[in-house]
Amino acid sequence: MSRAIYPGSFDPVTYGHLDVIKRSASMFDEVIVGVLSNNAKSPLFSLEERRLMLEEAVKEYSNVSVITFDGLLIDYMKGNDISVIVRGLRAVTDFEYELQIAQSNRKVSKDTIDTVFLTTSIDYAYLSSSIVKEYARYGTDVTDFVPDFVADRLKCKFCQI
Ligand code: ADP
Repeated sequence: MSRAIYPGSFDPVTYGHLDVIKRSASMFDEVIVGVLSNNAKSPLFSLEERRLMLEEAVKEYSNVSVITFDGLLIDYMKGNDISVIVRGLRAVTDFEYELQIAQSNRKVSKDTIDTVFLTTSIDYAYLSSSIVKEYARYGTDVTDFVPDFVADRLKCKFCQI
């Protein structure tokens, strides 16, 4: 059985992430979306909030589940019999960082873990969680970029600040 993990901050999940999830769900038997807690960035949403939004967003896919984790991704993968990492590539700017991480994960795992890159759909090439947060902060409608329930949560978040 092929199991892949799609790790990220997902702060919050966007249609760009969901496009990668949908496409990987048709390539692998099982896809685990892994929400990272040990993030150098300070996230807007808590780990639990990010997990709940993702769960709602992926509920139509029977072979996709959502987990949270801290520590090293490859340790989680070894413990759970997962050998493929899925990452999205938007632009050349993503490439250098992703290449370095993919190669080091392969080295540290003694060639047991590989990374599969899905290039972004042209519709979402410009889209990032940061851009969505910036628009939402100033009250701009973000429903073209994220599901409605995520847009509502962003609205709530920024009216509390
Ligand atoms: P990070 O993991 O760097 O904190 P994110 O949580 O925002 O970043 O993204 C997780 C993964 O999803 C990364 O592989 C990223 O390149 C990819 N991704 C983010 N936005 C898009 C998009 N619009 N299209 C395709 N892939 C994307």
